[in-house]
Amino acid sequence: MGSSTPTCGPTRAEQVRTVRAKRRQSALHPTVEASVSSFYNGWMNDQKTRQIRSHCPNCGPGRYADVLASHVVNDQDEEIGIWAKTTSYMLKCGGCKTVFFQEEYLFSEDYGPDGRPEKHITYYPPPAKRKRPEWLPSLQLSEAALYSLLNETYNALDVDARVLSATGARIIFDRASELLRIDPTLTFKQKLDELRNKGHISVSEHAHLDILTEAGSAAAHRGWQPTADQLNTVMSIVETFIHRKFVLESEVQRLKARIPRRKKRRSKRP
Ligand SMILES: [Zn+2]
Repeated sequence: MGSSTPTCGPTRAEQVRTVRAKRRQSALHPTVEASVSSFYNGWMNDQKTRQIRSHCPNCGPGRYADVLASHVVNDQDEEIGIWAKTTSYMLKCGGCKTVFFQEEYLFSEDYGPDGRPEKHITYYPPPAKRKRPEWLPSLQLSEAALYSLLNETYNALDVDARVLSATGARIIFDRASELLRIDPTLTFKQKLDELRNKGHISVSEHAHLDILTEAGSAAAHRGWQPTADQLNTVMSIVETFIHRKFVLESEVQRLKARIPRRKKRRSKRP
């Protein structure tokens, strides 16, 4: 017996990993190309409308959606006896009519608890982790830069980028305080004190915003990764602040201007 390394083929586990990696690569890129080319070849024509339950990016999970188009890719390795199936859908929500995409991926070696291949589902756009407030579009008209920062933070939340989301909330506060004419060179603590001194925020809101800026600092500089629930609290704080100062106040002013004034009473004659 020599000391040479024995030569043998890859183990079954290695084969599975290789095929899985190849399959995942092909599921990401060629499928998209195939969908686009199929679309322009009239792939959508003459399909009877059918519906499946899906996760609408606006309405949430479990919504019926019309199947505008579908595309199936089957892959099989007969030598080692494994297979994969990717089904792509272009869908239109039955409620809000939003068009979105769903991809279902089945791999013969990915078993679920019931012993059958487990279905992996991805959506584009990804389902929202936090519902955008209804007043957000109105902010786009009045404070476009602030809207853009909020929108980017919601996008970070959607892809579970928690550190970016927490720091995003602090940046939103920073920008908002500047719009309220607070000196941008001050520290966050000083900005909060100035906001309270100028009557922009109450004592309790000062305490809430202090937690928000601390959370942003901890995420940016101290390696803190907030949980989804903690992030929800941070977002509630920043949404309340932005809504009150940049949406509600102008709505109140408009309302005030439209309320008919009370007529002065005539003084009674003695
Ligand atoms: Zn919908």
